[in-house]
Amino acid sequence: MTDAEFTWLDPDTVQIRQPKTSHWEAPFLFLLFGRDRSLLLDTGATTDEAVFPLRRTIDELTQDWLRRHPARFVRPYPLVVAHTHAHRDHIAGDALLADRPATTVVGTTAAEVIGFFGFRSWPAEIVGFDLGDRMLDLIGAPGHEPSAVAFFDRATGILFTGDTICPGNLYVRDRPDFVRTIERLIAFRDGSAVPVRTLLGAHVEMSNEPGVDYPSGTVDQPDEAPLAMPPSILDEVRAALDEPGDRVVRDRFIVVHDG
Ligand SMILES: [Zn+2]
Repeated sequence: MTDAEFTWLDPDTVQIRQPKTSHWEAPFLFLLFGRDRSLLLDTGATTDEAVFPLRRTIDELTQDWLRRHPARFVRPYPLVVAHTHAHRDHIAGDALLADRPATTVVGTTAAEVIGFFGFRSWPAEIVGFDLGDRMLDLIGAPGHEPSAVAFFDRATGILFTGDTICPGNLYVRDRPDFVRTIERLIAFRDGSAVPVRTLLGAHVEMSNEPGVDYPSGTVDQPDEAPLAMPPSILDEVRAALDEPGDRVVRDRFIVVHDG
């Protein structure tokens, strides 16, 4: 077993990484705490608690947070498990949380995501989701995968973008949808009353050397690029989508057309 790597981004927000030693995809997961409930974004690439102890990690982080916030909260404290998108390396751990007390695991089809969060006009409509004094804006983001959603956390200014935008290969599976999604994210960024401070995706595949990524399947990534990307990266991605070629290399990402 390899323990999760985690970082408290602020007192109510945890960035979790599934270690490379447990799965080469090494996806990032995020746990956000609010007054009424917490939200876990993605569950990782493995179904085996013995390989990656997702349930124990979530339980320990939650206990830690509740200890720092005594008596304010309903018990058992609810957890909602949602996903940036439905690819296997982001949902495999769902089963490890299915029987956890006070836990709701959101389904992974587009219809289930739309129904749970109450989108009436998918994906054009932006819907709110409140953790209790912590409002998120959910932006439909199909194009890499049909049920993809970007989550904006007003409390931190973080836009969680999954595999749609990350320092790595941006796999464009449906080009028209992907273009509209990037344009939707740009419009959201430019119109948001709360500034979008940073983008956090779900993988690091780029090295610190501009335009150079690691081979797929690699388990050792020295000199990784940072996960966080500036909001201006959206404009770079939008421009790269108009360039010819199946593989458009930029310093901090690579657009791969494989739809
Ligand atoms: Zn994906």
